[in-house]
Amino acid sequence: MNNKSANLAIISNNTFEATKAVNLHHYDISSALQTTLEFNELIAIFSSKIANKIPHSAFVYKNTEFGLEVKSGIFTRHSCNYALKVEQQQLGELKLMRNHKFSEADLQLLETLLCCLIYPLKNATLFHQALKMAHTDPLTQTHNRTAFNDSIKREMSLATRNSKSLSLIFFDIDHFKNINDVYGHDCGDITLTFSAKWIKENLRESDIVFRYGGEEFVILLSDTDANGAELLAERIRASIESHTIAYGMETIKITASLGVSTLRGNDTIESFIQRADKAMYLAKNKGRNQVIATR
Ligand code: GH3
Ligand code: MG
Ligand code: MG
Repeated sequence: MNNKSANLAIISNNTFEATKAVNLHHYDISSALQTTLEFNELIAIFSSKIANKIPHSAFVYKNTEFGLEVKSGIFTRHSCNYALKVEQQQLGELKLMRNHKFSEADLQLLETLLCCLIYPLKNATLFHQALKMAHTDPLTQTHNRTAFNDSIKREMSLATRNSKSLSLIFFDIDHFKNINDVYGHDCGDITLTFSAKWIKENLRESDIVFRYGGEEFVILLSDTDANGAELLAERIRASIESHTIAYGMETIKITASLGVSTLRGNDTIESFIQRADKAMYLAKNKGRNQVIATR
């Protein structure tokens, strides 16, 4: 070790010794919070690390931006609530609960401890925002092709492991090129945005819609058999047909062709996708604006 680094070690040692006990505790919490970027883990770590200083029986953490609600423990009578925020960035709401009231001194201490949680939460927010952006199609706000590649792999192994059904719908707008040619690219973009919205309106929480390519969407339906998937595809088709797009002085009607496949025991990702894709092309060949399901 050279002199310079030996000096540095002494200085940091002095500083360390001079630190107040409460800050040592902060240091312990902060280091633990550096180990993850997952909201639920951050909150659970924070709750357990402050438990001896601020005893509480339960916590609830809500983050509307990511549709998250994390709860743990036994819900009791008294609570304290904090809307967490840093530099105009909302970081969610944290509630702690217990049987007896939180005193002013408890709240003051909790507020100093919350400072340790703020920046790890901000880092988690930035990380999840970036992740979301990397998996979202900016025009339609549906998931993108990258997300599809991840999801289909995950959903296929989940369905196989749990002996659940899994279905896939390929959706393609009919004669979409005409819309671009006649009304312009902007109108084409609006048509895509509305189509995504109308598809989503017909889905359950667990169904996921992806923009697969230009004017093609795929919908992944977990725990859905061939009958259920065909019914849903027909509902989407009818919904698209029933809407009208107002563009300037023009009114535009669109239709779509849909192909459905349901997972078979010997399917690979490719064969599962190909069946839905082929069914969709069959729907095109048969005159468009219809659903073809493969069994
Ligand atoms: P079909 O009924 O056989 O599906 O005919 P189609 O015209 O819908 O299909 P085709 O594949 O011939 O044309 C798709 C068009 O979609 C061509 C492409 O320029 C357009 N397109 C792809 N992505 C976008 C986009 O993001 N915005 C707009 N406005 N157009 C797009
Ligand atoms: Mg098309
Ligand atoms: Mg197409």
